[in-house]
Amino acid sequence: MATNAWYQARGIFGYQHQSFRQSDGVLFVTVAHHGAGLRCPHCHGTSIIRRGFIPRTWQALPWGCIRWLCRLRCHGVECRRCNSTHAVPVPFASPGRSYTHRFERMVLELRRSMTLKDASAGLVTMAGVIAHRV
Ligand SMILES: [Zn+2]
Repeated sequence: MATNAWYQARGIFGYQHQSFRQSDGVLFVTVAHHGAGLRCPHCHGTSIIRRGFIPRTWQALPWGCIRWLCRLRCHGVECRRCNSTHAVPVPFASPGRSYTHRFERMVLELRRSMTLKDASAGLVTMAGVIAHRV
């Protein structure tokens, strides 16, 4: 399967593959954003100054029984228009969440047909991550 298809199946678009690393049953996948087209997440202004990176990790859809963690160094930007500094949000996860939209949707779909405890037996960490939203 092409690398792009892996990311598309997990809802991660517009990022470049950096590396795969598997350790203790967890697949760590690192992606990067090229930085072109960055805007202020507050006012959407384009007059920005890059201010380093903020490392983030999200729980993504598992690959079979292998837990999938997606890592990204998110750009930090300072906006000249609204004088604020923000981390650029990612389209595949809600701000402040540690899991992707696709992972959340899968958990909520499983929740319809089984208890959260049953679902978590099949998906590592799922119960603790999503339980507060169900
Ligand atoms: Zn701004």
